[in-house]
Amino acid sequence: MSVLSMDIGGTSIKTGLFDSQGTLLSTSETDTEAYKGVDSLINKLCGIISSHKALHAVGISTSGQVDARTGRIVFATEAFPGYTGTPLRQILKERTGLPVAVDNDVNSAAIGEAFFGAGRNYNDFICLTYGTGIGGAIVIGKEIYRGADGIAGEFGHMVTHANGKPCVCGKRGCYEMYGSTRALTENVRKATGKQMDGREIFMYFNQPKIREIIDSWIDEVVWGLVSLSHIFNPPCFILGGGILNETYVFDQIRLKLKRNVIPSFKNSIVKPAQKGNNAGIYGAYWNARQLLNPGSDM
Ligand SMILES: [Zn+2]
Repeated sequence: MSVLSMDIGGTSIKTGLFDSQGTLLSTSETDTEAYKGVDSLINKLCGIISSHKALHAVGISTSGQVDARTGRIVFATEAFPGYTGTPLRQILKERTGLPVAVDNDVNSAAIGEAFFGAGRNYNDFICLTYGTGIGGAIVIGKEIYRGADGIAGEFGHMVTHANGKPCVCGKRGCYEMYGSTRALTENVRKATGKQMDGREIFMYFNQPKIREIIDSWIDEVVWGLVSLSHIFNPPCFILGGGILNETYVFDQIRLKLKRNVIPSFKNSIVKPAQKGNNAGIYGAYWNARQLLNPGSDM
């Protein structure tokens, strides 16, 4: 049995081929070219699928809000013209004749971590990914908690600053305007005039001005986690995103979270995501695998 898994991001589509044991046999990557429109994107996906022989199912992890029950794209930004409203699962099913599972990228990554990564030993955890924005997922009993409209877990849009900076969502003061990696790089750019990515910023870690910006950004990250800790009291937080590879960031988050929650909440474990950029294809594999063998434990 083999399953093809695809993770559709703003810049690239990552593809993974899995065997029945959940072993990732091979990966490849191609440009999304989402600007060419939805028909071109679907042709590209079908092309990738048809270049693999003897598939049993396809799993898709994608940018945008997804109704995972129907596999329809509920909402996508203007980076994906025409994608909003696309019944992706139905189209791919009709064109390939294969069972297809579709979920959004953050939920797929959380499922990937739940069964193959940092969440293996936890039934319940809260997952956050720090990048351009802040993605979130709530895992309860090894399943995504989806909410009334299938879109729960938008932690990036918790308000951490009343009447704060305007956010891409149209509201103000959202967590991701302060705690995302982009917020850090923006703060550094404003202070130094230099555009640096997260890794470059840490090359100047010993400069007091940079250090101060990093420390106040970590405080912003922690404020969001403090609220989530008080709401969920989760056994575990799993945090992903390239910036968290910096040991200093991770250690400070752990320390400051413990220091800032009500003492009875300090037992939550904070773990780094383990599957990195592959978490999405692992989760999409798992979702597709469930279509063939529901409830299977591999
Ligand atoms: Zn927002």
